[in-house]
Amino acid sequence: MDKSFMKPESLMMSYGYKPELSEGSVKCPIFQTSTFAFKNAEEGKAFFEVAYGLREKHEGEELGLIYSRLNNPDLEILESRLTLWDKAEDCAVFESGMSAITTVLLGFLNPGDTLLYSQPVYGGTSHFIEEILTRFGIQVVGFTASDAKEDILNKIKQAKNGLQSLKMIYIETPANPTNALIDLELCKEIADLLSNAEKKVLFTVDNTYMGPLWQHPLQHGADFVIYSATKYIGGHSDVIAGACLGSKELMASVKEMRTFLGNMAGPWTGWLLMRSLETLKARMDIQQKNAQKVASYLDSHSNVEKVHYLGMISNPQQQAIFKRQCKGTGAMVSFDIKGDEKEAFQFLNNLKLFKLAVSLGSTESLAEHPATMTHAGVSPQNRKACGIGGSLVRLSIGVENSKDLIWDIDQALKA
Ligand code: PLP
Repeated sequence: MDKSFMKPESLMMSYGYKPELSEGSVKCPIFQTSTFAFKNAEEGKAFFEVAYGLREKHEGEELGLIYSRLNNPDLEILESRLTLWDKAEDCAVFESGMSAITTVLLGFLNPGDTLLYSQPVYGGTSHFIEEILTRFGIQVVGFTASDAKEDILNKIKQAKNGLQSLKMIYIETPANPTNALIDLELCKEIADLLSNAEKKVLFTVDNTYMGPLWQHPLQHGADFVIYSATKYIGGHSDVIAGACLGSKELMASVKEMRTFLGNMAGPWTGWLLMRSLETLKARMDIQQKNAQKVASYLDSHSNVEKVHYLGMISNPQQQAIFKRQCKGTGAMVSFDIKGDEKEAFQFLNNLKLFKLAVSLGSTESLAEHPATMTHAGVSPQNRKACGIGGSLVRLSIGVENSKDLIWDIDQALKA
């Protein structure tokens, strides 16, 4: 039966899985195997010809199972389910969000190329771009949410041979930890403007902070959307994983790179994420409702200087971007406490229900201090420029009762 009219949350329990191939098991088993037996040598030869791109697939031919670094049912079924949220043609799952990010950057950038990237980005991404990519002769140019098109083009022009060598635009929106929004359509416009017959400027979006429900960058012209699946997708703080989605053609190159870097997720991770996907919509809906209540409580508190939440945007440009590209306000709330690092630490040390931990998007609420934790690796100038100061606290809101969360924040702010 054609179920393509159904919503992704209705298909998360069944899509891409055929019980008759697994003894009728209602749930997809864990295919804990490194290798798969071929029926005969001819079949093995045919599978490798397709896997290594030695020939095109025949009409109706599927890539057969070979070896779990290339393919495994738990990963393939998970990947097909993940495509539904973003309406992507294909998906590749990785052993971490960082491996999804680094595989795309290494796969498409060469020495002499320029990468334009938004600031702030997650601390690990920032380190990889600024400290590691630059070692391989890749020029990197940063911009922030407050830069207009002309400012961004000027920054590219100021870089050596910038206009000619721009190969990729990489952004994180909303940005971790400030919730600053980068305009997806503006980035696509710049990518198109600087593409030519010899090179296409690729556009990559880390959509981790918003998660797969409320923002779909591929529909705004992005070539790749990336997730740390450790966050909302996994959602229980018990697995590290990543995902990248895009067109079949581009994803074939990503999967080839993944095969040779060997950084695919394992079958157990694939199985855990499939289990998590069954409740993704339910969890995220509750988390968002809780976050809205927490944000308005914080906004009314005399010990809070400013709340950074997508449901409370005051800047008109940011509000316009929000309306164009976001379908929800998310579950990430940051705020500046009155005072500095000392007051922020006092608040964090007094929380009783929130866990003092990095990471986000999980069932339990977490609190952390970006300037000295997740974004400690970002240079002090960049931290300052992006508003990541000593007073900033980041909250990831979970599925607890919102009254208990507010009680906890209240008593920690008093303390
Ligand atoms: N992207 C964002 C926005 C993140 O917050 C993180 C981790 O916190 C990552 C990527 C990296 O993901 P992982 O820890 O799964 O490698």
